[in-house]
Amino acid sequence: MICITLSPDIKLPPQMTVHSPSPDILSALEAAVGRNGLVADPAGMAKYLGDWAGDYRGGALAVLRPGSVGEVQALMRLCNELGLGVIPQGGNTGLVSGAIDSSGAGLVVVSLERLNSIRRIDAGNFTLQADAGCVLQAIKDASEARDCLFPLALGAQGSCQIGGNAASNAGGVNVLRYGMARDLILGLEVVLADGELWNGFSGLRKNNSGYDLKQLFIGSEGTLGIITGVEVKLFPKPAQIETAYLGLPSFETAIQLFNWARRACSDLISAFEIIGAECIELARLIDPNMPGPVEAPVHVLMELSSGPGIDLNALLAGFLAEAMKAGLVSDAVLASSNAQARAFWTIREGLVEGQAKRGYHVRTDLSVRISDIPALIEHARDLVATEHPGWIPLAYGHAGDGNIHFNVLPPLELGESEARALGVEVTAGLYQIAVGLGGSISAEHGIGRSRRREFWAGLSPTHRRMTMALKAALDPKGLMNPGCLLPSTETSS
Ligand SMILES: Cc1cc2nc3c(=O)[nH]c(=O)nc-3n(C[C@H](O)[C@H](O)[C@H](O)COP(=O)(O)OP(=O)(O)OC[C@H]3O[C@@H](n4cnc5c(N)ncnc54)[C@H](O)[C@@H]3O)c2cc1C
Repeated sequence: MICITLSPDIKLPPQMTVHSPSPDILSALEAAVGRNGLVADPAGMAKYLGDWAGDYRGGALAVLRPGSVGEVQALMRLCNELGLGVIPQGGNTGLVSGAIDSSGAGLVVVSLERLNSIRRIDAGNFTLQADAGCVLQAIKDASEARDCLFPLALGAQGSCQIGGNAASNAGGVNVLRYGMARDLILGLEVVLADGELWNGFSGLRKNNSGYDLKQLFIGSEGTLGIITGVEVKLFPKPAQIETAYLGLPSFETAIQLFNWARRACSDLISAFEIIGAECIELARLIDPNMPGPVEAPVHVLMELSSGPGIDLNALLAGFLAEAMKAGLVSDAVLASSNAQARAFWTIREGLVEGQAKRGYHVRTDLSVRISDIPALIEHARDLVATEHPGWIPLAYGHAGDGNIHFNVLPPLELGESEARALGVEVTAGLYQIAVGLGGSISAEHGIGRSRRREFWAGLSPTHRRMTMALKAALDPKGLMNPGCLLPSTETSS
């Protein structure tokens, strides 16, 4: 029997329960999305049911790949009628099991991958409208071809989709200058749980009339509706970019440097990433010959960008000379070509890939006030050293946003299942430290299924009530991504 997981206070009438994946249901689904749109064989479904990091595996009744907004509406009408739960899926690069249901509760996965056209670029208005299934890199490339910049930038940009970025309110390396997905989205088009279409496009930058409904769907992780179209803000493409790779004595000095740099560089910083030196070894798992541009306990990858008319190179070089004189920076390499700048970024990207290659590890996405970053890292390292000896801590992240990925590698000799069991304890300790500093357990990756309990436990009764009221208003049958973000049963905390 197939059960549909329910959210608190949301009850399905008995006739809404689907009892088996009968041929009738499969043919009704096929009628909604066409033959090309239905994948129901285990081999075909496999790639939609496992995540990038290999941490989660799920089940599904079928994978649906609608080829038009009309087909998304048709399938949602059908699922609403049948009481069938729906998991929207973009590029499936999420790191919190938002698009994978590991309980195998018999839901359908709706992949947006066939809805992948750029609908319109209005360079005069600095806007771009695209189908939700457009891959982020394609949007960045199309913007660049019109001498514009779409600044959302993250390691998964070759695979993640703009609809997934909106649904997860993605961050990345340029948040410091341009904000998160929420700040970059002007409008959305959404198919609601009952199949109705909401067109929230206006192309307007200022539209102060009533509730800003698109904000409800941004960061909703597929729990309120299926995003089918996204309209984003574009920016002038920077005429110059300067990139520096720096060595520093400590995380404290990195934060001092950041504060100083923001003012001294006229707020032209577009990225400020910190990397604990221990992470470089992970990047070398991807490329054993990866050069280490500096030798120091803490590395900083800093980028300035601007239009023409400013001597950006002189600004950065002058700033770094002052910072070295003041003892904040011990070593600095200023990229002399695009290729060298790219090589610096390869180190940052490689260390993430290297962790996945090494296997299971504790992965966090913590945020604290920027000034609390050194304390966060110090307490977290102490916790690992005293309570989990043998585990290897790694600290890196988007320091300019107060966002640290404090990850921990299990000892190699530990078996994977033992490591996963102990990893729960390690994660809980790290969350406690972040929350103790007034921080968040999810800076940019979202809540999904993997952080749901901790998220929900930390909410006030008023916050919970408002959240559930919104859920009940937009998805009264609890069909949208059940088990993600919100508790799935009355008893869940
Ligand atoms: C190597 C790597 C680096 C990363 N770096 C970053 C980073 O720097 N910053 C960051 O924020 N994230 C990062 N991520 C996480 C991930 O790439 C982002 O969360 C991304 O925005 C997810 O997009 P996606 O299309 O893959 O969505 P998916 O993983 O498919 O889905 C994510 C969530 O959104 C929902 N969803 C997807 N599409 C839709 C839709 N059309 N309508 C409604 N709901 C939908 C899903 O149900 C799920 O809950 C990284 C991931 C990897 C693998």
